[in-house]
Amino acid sequence: MFRPILASIDVDALRHNLGIARRHAGAARVLAVAKAAGYGHRLPHVLPALSEADGIAVLDLEDAIAIRASGFDRRIVLLEGCFQGRDLHEAARHRLHVVVHDAEQVRMLEVAPPASRVGVLLKCNSGMNRLGFRVGPFREALATLRTLPAVADITLMTHFADADRADGIDAAFAVFEAACDGAALPRSAANSAALVAHPRARGDWVRPGIMLYGASPFDDRSAEALELRPVMTLRSRIIGLQTLAAGDRVGYGGQFVAERAMRIGVVACGYGDGYPRHAPTGTPVLVDGMRTRIVGRVSMDMITIDLTPAPAARVGSAVTLWGEGLPVDEVAKSAGTLGYELLCALAPRVPTEVGAPVRPF
Ligand SMILES: *Cc1c(COP(=O)(O)O)cnc(C)c1O
Repeated sequence: MFRPILASIDVDALRHNLGIARRHAGAARVLAVAKAAGYGHRLPHVLPALSEADGIAVLDLEDAIAIRASGFDRRIVLLEGCFQGRDLHEAARHRLHVVVHDAEQVRMLEVAPPASRVGVLLKCNSGMNRLGFRVGPFREALATLRTLPAVADITLMTHFADADRADGIDAAFAVFEAACDGAALPRSAANSAALVAHPRARGDWVRPGIMLYGASPFDDRSAEALELRPVMTLRSRIIGLQTLAAGDRVGYGGQFVAERAMRIGVVACGYGDGYPRHAPTGTPVLVDGMRTRIVGRVSMDMITIDLTPAPAARVGSAVTLWGEGLPVDEVAKSAGTLGYELLCALAPRVPTEVGAPVRPF
């Protein structure tokens, strides 16, 4: 018996989106970002498509090793570098590149045995004040890294806080340029938003994440307008029906009150599956391909939806929570969050499958 919920992963759409990223990248190489299980899509599903990129970036050493073991022979980057010295040895063994963002990671490389030779992405804090060296310490770290036998090659890197705004990278890009000080080394700065909106920040390696998965990094430009296709479609089915009279309430807290007689459907998907608990009444959903809205509070395992626009809907009717026909960004906006969060939050209990659903779900 299957609980009727399934996330379908469209690998062709992923390939298409990678092609769009490549078109924006021009001559720059594409480092496909696949942290958080490939933004929730599950690494084994996304690897066949992402292996067409010039590199793949993740956070976990285990993920990086698995990608190498899958046969991917190009650059693999650990985006936060090594958390302890002994990881460096593993990174070297699997020919990984590591980000170096603070002095402790430089020290790890200083004391590393000669066999632990890795490529390095030295990270500049250009104003986001999360990871990275400020201009002075960045130049010092670069001078040190250039002397270390454990360092195989160096790429200069930064990350933008505001690349989704028209003037959003000006200050940060100037800081990064100052930190690089004309060094003749490859550079990497652009996330999806910068890749699309700020061509001058392309450098040698661009780092698209969200756009590969078919969601938009911008508040005011849809994925469709960027020619991106959704990769994940989260589907469920109606498992129960209720007919309400005017004044009847729905769900925990009874927050939705029917204004007139109406039919609602109970859908097997809730916050335990990764659906956003804060999605209010009115959040869009598709039933039998028709657009309607959720009503009442999201529960752990269920949501309730208005069947007024779909009088033929019954138990078993197909429901799309996001994906094909309903951009994840629209659902996210209604819930006060981002497509990024909804995709990453897909719960482990939700089965995933490549391609259109084949098993009954
Ligand atoms: C997540 C991440 C990216 C990708 O960002 P998107 O906005 O998803 O394109 C790029 N670089 C770094 C360092 C990241 O952590």
